[in-house]
Amino acid sequence: MIVSIIGTRGGIGSTTLLSNLFVQVKNNETSHGWLSLTSPFPPLFSESSTNWKKVFSFKKNIPKWNNEKCTYCNDCVDICVNKAISPLPNGYNIYSELCNSCKACISACKNDALKFELNDVGFIEISNDTNFNLHRINLNEKEIISTWHIKEIFSFLRAYKEKNSTFFIDIPSGLHEYWEEILKLSSSVIIYSDDPFTSDLIYKSHSPRQAKLILAITANSKTEFEKAGYSFAISIPKNKIIAFDSIQGKIVTDIGFNNSIINLKNIILEKFPS
Ligand code: SF4
Ligand code: SF4
Repeated sequence: MIVSIIGTRGGIGSTTLLSNLFVQVKNNETSHGWLSLTSPFPPLFSESSTNWKKVFSFKKNIPKWNNEKCTYCNDCVDICVNKAISPLPNGYNIYSELCNSCKACISACKNDALKFELNDVGFIEISNDTNFNLHRINLNEKEIISTWHIKEIFSFLRAYKEKNSTFFIDIPSGLHEYWEEILKLSSSVIIYSDDPFTSDLIYKSHSPRQAKLILAITANSKTEFEKAGYSFAISIPKNKIIAFDSIQGKIVTDIGFNNSIINLKNIILEKFPS
């Protein structure tokens, strides 16, 4: 089972929620894991780790030029919607971080001057020093997360996860363009928002897949969503004690918050078990 959380704003709210949920689920299961697309890790997991082991390499197919066959016609440059190829006085430069291996340039070349070549563009590591199964992503300089990376990450998790394991992914609020992909690939997605308007928009815009969505929202918003007929809406308290516990790297002690976590856990385990 892969559980993702998306915060609709910056801040620590979504990470606090997911890390406390992670500890709750971890206590019940033998197999679990955490992957942060944000950095650094939540304070709750801030045991220092210097011992990281590479468990997955991002290998991207990137075009390579055969200079003997190339006639410098620029067809490959023109067809690349990602602007990943730029002409140089004596050839071409490929920006691997912009290339998503779509193959359009290779198909466009009438001279068979382009071939794909596998390149290492980053890796996923696991920490050996904590008992949280922490994973982190290390991409090459300039390499930025794209839909291709999201697909690679999920295929790694699927291959890695054992039966009955639960994997938690913390998604930064800025990765809007990949939410659709994350929704498609996760077992369930928690949308954490204190803004009913944004939550409502997200919920409706993803209606075909809304059964996978759980809204984590404030008490007022919960009433509004329930009136509107939405099913999985969890009220999450927000106060200074919760923020303080979180920043201090402690499990949140607020009773209301913990009750919400238990509700959330029950929904995830009972409604979206695979
Ligand atoms: S399309 Fe082929 S021949 Fe034309 S510039 Fe690109 S690699 Fe060279
Ligand atoms: S494979 Fe696609 S994205 Fe990559 S350089 Fe070629 S056309 Fe551009």
